[in-house]
Parts: sequence; structure tokens; C-alpha cells
Amino acid sequence: MRIANVEGRGSLVIDGRVVDVETATSGRITSDPMELVDLRNHPLMADLVADEDCDQVSESSLGPPVPRPRKIIAIALNYRSHAVEANKAIPTEPHVMVKFPTCITGPYDDVLMYDLEMVDYEVELVLAIGRQGVRIPSSSAWDHISGLMVGNDVSDRNEQFRPPIRQFSMAKSYDRFGPTGPFLVTPEDLPNRDDLEISLMVDGELRQQARTSDFIFPVPVLIEWLSRYVTLEVGDLVFTGTTGGVGDSMDPPTYLRNGQVVEAFVEGIGTIRNRFVTGDCQ
Ligand code: ZN
Repeated sequence: MRIANVEGRGSLVIDGRVVDVETATSGRITSDPMELVDLRNHPLMADLVADEDCDQVSESSLGPPVPRPRKIIAIALNYRSHAVEANKAIPTEPHVMVKFPTCITGPYDDVLMYDLEMVDYEVELVLAIGRQGVRIPSSSAWDHISGLMVGNDVSDRNEQFRPPIRQFSMAKSYDRFGPTGPFLVTPEDLPNRDDLEISLMVDGELRQQARTSDFIFPVPVLIEWLSRYVTLEVGDLVFTGTTGGVGDSMDPPTYLRNGQVVEAFVEGIGTIRNRFVTGDCQ
């Protein structure tokens, strides 16, 4: 299934057409997109079909598929090639930061850069938790995942590395610093879910490209590790880390400028496309 947030309503996109889930289930599932993350609702949704009366999906109608996550966990350094390229030791356990839930924005929304001069991109595969669990063994990790999305872990590098103490979480949590989408794609629709191409372009120039089979901590390992002492709840998101090619690692470092368009892609899921603009949120 391809789960979408269409003008604020939980929907499925079937053959390019929008099926409004509340209408199609006669109200058994409400219109709140967060309902569609819950794996208990998936059997009912799986039977829905699109007919000619259903609208074609349009980019401008799409919001973030998981608009109000409970928490957002973000993983640092999870691509082997990226660690080698950055001359960093391969971590033996994940390194984690958080993004505040209010950073989430839609797949085609403008991202506001305010008056910041060191805003940077990070394409990431994003997991949504669909079944609560703690001490989840890696063997059943996928049973807790509702779906996968494309995400951009936007970061203010100035705040992130401001001396004397690094401050990742605040630097990655500004309003609109978490574009996600375009759809939440259920794992059964991704036959190669452990080996997906991932890439990012700035104004059409390829900056990042990798495969998720290069993960140091594959999805099942991450879920087992994250849930050792922390309950994962329905609607939690996990940003699984980025690969080489971020602006901060370029020579010289190159940050996003007003009007640039960033396209982030994951095979089998799609592309999110956000224009980065100077200015405030009004
Ligand atoms: Zn990241």
C-alpha cells in the first residue's frame, strides 16, 4: 500500500488515484492520517480499491504521511562507505540524536532557512513504527514497521557544531527541517526493502547516492538496539542516517542558497522535492 496525507486526510494512492480511507471504510477508520500508521488498521485498508470517481493524486495536495510523530529518532553515521570516506571508525553500536516532532513538513513544501547561512541536506530512508514494542528481537523487527518514506534530515551546521559542545538535536529540529513523504510505502510493496537505491540532487546536480544494503546497522538491527530500553510507539519515526556528499563535507563546504531545489529519492518510494528559501514562517 501507498499511504498518503491528502489535504490532511488519510488516504491510499492506488494506480495514481486517491482513495479517501474514512469514506471508503464507512468511517471505521477516521480521516486522521495517524490512524493509517497503525498496523491494526492495515487489513481493512488492504481490501480497498480505486474507481473512476477517485481523483488523480496531485503533488500540491500531499502533506507529510505521518504528520504528528510521537518521537523522531535519527541515526548518525550508518553507511559504511560514508564512514570510510569521512575517515571515521566504523561504529560498533548506533549513535542517536532526536528531531523534535514539530519539524515535520510535507514532501513538496518550501523549507524556510530564516537568516541562517549553513543550512544543509541529508537524504535518509525513514521508518514509521506501526506496532508498539520494547525489546523487539531483530527477527521480528519488520513486523513492527508500518512503512518507509523518503526524508531530508535538514540541519543548521552552524548550531550543530557550535563550540564548546556539539548540539545536534536543536540544529536538526527547526520548523520545516523534516520534509518527509511522498508516501508511506508498506514493506510488502518493497521486495528489496534491505537494498534500496537512495540519492539526492541540488538543482539537478547529483550530490548523494548509495544503497541501503551499505547500512552498518540494517533495519532489523537498528530496531532491536533502539528498543532495548526504549518503547517504540505507533507513529514514531526513525531517520536511518545519511550517506556521503553532504554540503558540509564538500571542499569548500557548500550550503544551501535561497531558491535552490533539493530532490531526495528512494527506490520504490519516490521523490520529495523542496525549495529552500530565505525568510521566516508566516
Ligand atoms: Zn541525518
